[in-house]
Amino acid sequence: MIITEEQAGKFKELTENAGEIVIITHHNPDGDAIGSSLGLYHVLKRMCDKVTVVLPNHLPEFLKWMPGVDGIKYYKDDNSGVGKILSDAGLVIMLDFNEPGRLGKMSECVNKIKSPVVLIDHHPGPEINAVLTVSVTAVSSTAELVYEVIEAAGLKKEIGFDSATCLFTGMLTDTVSFSVNCSRSRTFAIASELLEFKIEKDEINRLVFNTFSESRMRLLGHLLSQNMVIIPQYKSAYITLSMEEAKRYSFQTGDSEGFVNYPLYIKGIVFSAFIMERRDHIKLSFRSRGSFAVNKLMEDHFKGGGHLNAAGGEMYNTTMKDVVERLVSVLPLYSELCGI
Ligand code: 5GP
Ligand code: MN
Repeated sequence: MIITEEQAGKFKELTENAGEIVIITHHNPDGDAIGSSLGLYHVLKRMCDKVTVVLPNHLPEFLKWMPGVDGIKYYKDDNSGVGKILSDAGLVIMLDFNEPGRLGKMSECVNKIKSPVVLIDHHPGPEINAVLTVSVTAVSSTAELVYEVIEAAGLKKEIGFDSATCLFTGMLTDTVSFSVNCSRSRTFAIASELLEFKIEKDEINRLVFNTFSESRMRLLGHLLSQNMVIIPQYKSAYITLSMEEAKRYSFQTGDSEGFVNYPLYIKGIVFSAFIMERRDHIKLSFRSRGSFAVNKLMEDHFKGGGHLNAAGGEMYNTTMKDVVERLVSVLPLYSELCGI
């Protein structure tokens, strides 16, 4: 079992006697962050007095349909209100991140937490002070791990249509439609168990992946035809997106989601980077195939982290040009290290 009896017992004990439970996840939340948080929210809501999901900032358009989003509280909208929710909590459950910095500006609230903290996450090397840490990198997603915790704690009977929908969405997005990061057979067994709740799999898939605006689709076309740079000797490619281009294509939060995967559709490419200029920083996304450790590359040179094949980071006080130059200069080293 991936969850020990002790962990399961502790989770049950903590949630049963908690009073108000607050679930928090990382800033710029993705499908797994929201899916795991709302999935657990719907389960705990059936058993506990009060459960609140708190996010540092807003969620992208393609996730706004998810059951439970209306009750989410945002730090960005109400710093002091959210600070109070956190300091009054009886239990804080942190999902899908491994270090306080991933909370963005909300990280300044972490020291206001007086209650016990539970961490459930699938990133390597957790650096969070918690009375219960469930950190497993072998799972596809935090949503999958939340399912494992719920089951191990004997709470499966509390899963319903809404929680199953949210947990499935987390798994679907982190595995890019069950194409990557899902070699563990149990991942498919859990997906199958979630389907038993009569969730609308095809509709979830459509809402998450097939709701591009026209301008988002044209932006993708523009980036692939004009901005994608291929470096064949390192089996690598990168795409840049400037603020000017984002404006020209009426860029909305979440519009670049998944764009980093496209260069990997090219035969022979094993590393892809998406580099986007934002108001006060440069946002990076790396993806790879096989043994190319993008989390290491990100940690060593680009102030971020993540998993072996998917990592992200944010660089302040620099320019797109400098970031691109740095990437191109370190690639030879890494491709050699990774045996490309
Ligand atoms: P994405 O490219 O989708 O933003 O992120 C890919 C992976 O890297 C995710 O697992 C995410 O948790 C992690 N990640 C994204 N941004 C950051 C960051 O700024 N710092 C760290 N440590 N990890 C990040
Ligand atoms: Mn995740």
